[in-house]
Amino acid sequence: MYDIGIIGGGTAGLTAAIYGQRAGKSTLVLEGLNYGGQIVNSPNVENYPGIASISGAEFSMNLMEQASRLGAEMKTEQVTGISEEDGHKVVVTTGESYVCRTVVIATGMVHRHLGLEKEIKLAGAGVSYCATCDGMFFRGRDVAVVGGGNTALQDADFLSNYCNKVYLVHRRDEFRGENNLVQALEKRENVEWILDTVVKDILGEQTVEGLELHNKKTGADSAIKVAGVFVAVGQIPKNQEFADYVSLDDAGFIRASEDCMTSRAGVFAAGDCRTKEVRQLTTAAADGAVAALAAVKYLA
Ligand code: NAP
Repeated sequence: MYDIGIIGGGTAGLTAAIYGQRAGKSTLVLEGLNYGGQIVNSPNVENYPGIASISGAEFSMNLMEQASRLGAEMKTEQVTGISEEDGHKVVVTTGESYVCRTVVIATGMVHRHLGLEKEIKLAGAGVSYCATCDGMFFRGRDVAVVGGGNTALQDADFLSNYCNKVYLVHRRDEFRGENNLVQALEKRENVEWILDTVVKDILGEQTVEGLELHNKKTGADSAIKVAGVFVAVGQIPKNQEFADYVSLDDAGFIRASEDCMTSRAGVFAAGDCRTKEVRQLTTAAADGAVAALAAVKYLA
């Protein structure tokens, strides 16, 4: 039996493990895919207080090592649900089940898709959701990034180092991402802005050959030739496994306020998976600490 079962090995989950272990509690972190969460894919993190600049991969590795050194147990397993048994929580994975006294859900979010048929068909054949993972395959080629948030801006900046030309396709003429990232990108000569524009279709049958575009302001359709398209249109929560166990809002986020408490006693939600205004690395880490300390209090 574990004192705190943590679902998700991103910034929030690993921070919860650090705080739980430091409070003398046994913690188990269950992660389905990659430890570190979304930040692993950020080439450069420059907004974490006290660390002027660090790659997302290094930041994640440091977090994991820190949690591990403190004694957190980590298992790479996909969680399929949680149930109650004899006053304890049972976290069920595809192959095992783990009895825990408390649970911290820190499942983060998954990539939002554009919703185009070809997006699925050509995933891995020119359609990518991770510039840092796949960017090198497009060295010297023309590519497009879709989106106007920090991820899209960072991806376009990163890709402009390797690619011949980077089109940034955004559905508005204002950016959700930070102004300093926009300004940095404006200095890149091989970046072309395509604003007020949505992607109507992805061209190509075996691999991506181009994009069909639609300008929302002028109503004009056009096409660009690209070998790759990097979709960076945000993330959505993936909490359906817990929908019968804790209360979710209409968008699928776990209802929990700044104290990270969910509708179920002894179960806490931390990071991007919960209802909140600001989803940042710093707020994910803060949630991890708050949730773990709330779990410690609950155990007492
Ligand atoms: P985001 O901030 O939610 O931005 C998503 C972008 O995609 C928006 O510009 C949105 O357009 C656009 N979009 C959404 N759905 C679309 C659709 N169906 N078709 C076309 N465009 C669509 O997502 P994000 O950039 O992934 O960032 C997520 C969070 O992580 C943010 O809080 C961000 O600040 C943070 N982040 C931080 C760092 C860092 O360095 N610390 C790096 C990356 C991300 P509209 O603007 O018109 O809605």
